[in-house]
Amino acid sequence: MTHVITAPRPLVDDCPPAVAPTPPGGRRGWRWAARLAAGLMLFTGGLAVGGQAASPQTTRLSPTDRTFPAPVGVSTGVSLDIVWRVQADPSDRLLALTFDDGPDPDGTVQVLQVLAAHHATATFFELGESVETHPQVVRQVLDGGHEVGLHGWSHSTLILDDGPTIESDLDRAEAALRAVGAEPRLFRPTYGRIDSPGLGAAATRGYTIALWSDRLDDHSDTHRLAQRLQPGAIVMCHDGRGHVTPELLDRIDDLLTELDQAGYRYVTVSELLASPDPP
Ligand SMILES: [Zn+2]
Repeated sequence: MTHVITAPRPLVDDCPPAVAPTPPGGRRGWRWAARLAAGLMLFTGGLAVGGQAASPQTTRLSPTDRTFPAPVGVSTGVSLDIVWRVQADPSDRLLALTFDDGPDPDGTVQVLQVLAAHHATATFFELGESVETHPQVVRQVLDGGHEVGLHGWSHSTLILDDGPTIESDLDRAEAALRAVGAEPRLFRPTYGRIDSPGLGAAATRGYTIALWSDRLDDHSDTHRLAQRLQPGAIVMCHDGRGHVTPELLDRIDDLLTELDQAGYRYVTVSELLASPDPP
């Protein structure tokens, strides 16, 4: 029997700079990557980081009816890694800066200038339709030594999209990035919201899902954030969709100035994942 949710609520967009929520259990309690074994059914209830899970709209399938079909002829399950921070060697003081929603000919370029002033590399999670519109900005990101990952095609919410749509959007976005020379291996779902169809689509394409442990907005207390950050953290910020304001650029600069003084080094998410384990 198909269940229908009958009490729709508008989605709460947690990508715009708003009050930064604290994930369940607190940020500091999260460690390393979670390996999902066969049976992504575990996640049919949805995974939400950085905000409350959204309510599906009327006529959408119940969350428990949203599954990823097993590939024909494959009897074993699939799995993938999800990372939101890394248990890095504290003496290395490595940290990953990440920027969502680009490429943007204004916002991304301004963010790149701030990063360059601090000799910082970062990871940019980009939208396929913007990549297609602004390929030169993606090339500028890559030329700067930064990593590029996927953030979907058009910033839709995966837990409201059906499986074929999710797969099609992922493939289109990956093709757009590959057309400009990127080789994306990381996927960050919009709003950090993903459930079984999205997890299955990412797993069968070999993606690692990259979430975040900390967040920087244009109203963040950068001193408190710098004090709270620990080696291995993944910081989420934005470089597109209207998020880049003079205040945000100042916050990024302020945070990096303080982290520079604390001896941090900024690496891509893939470099952070490949860093040595603590002794
Ligand atoms: Zn986003």
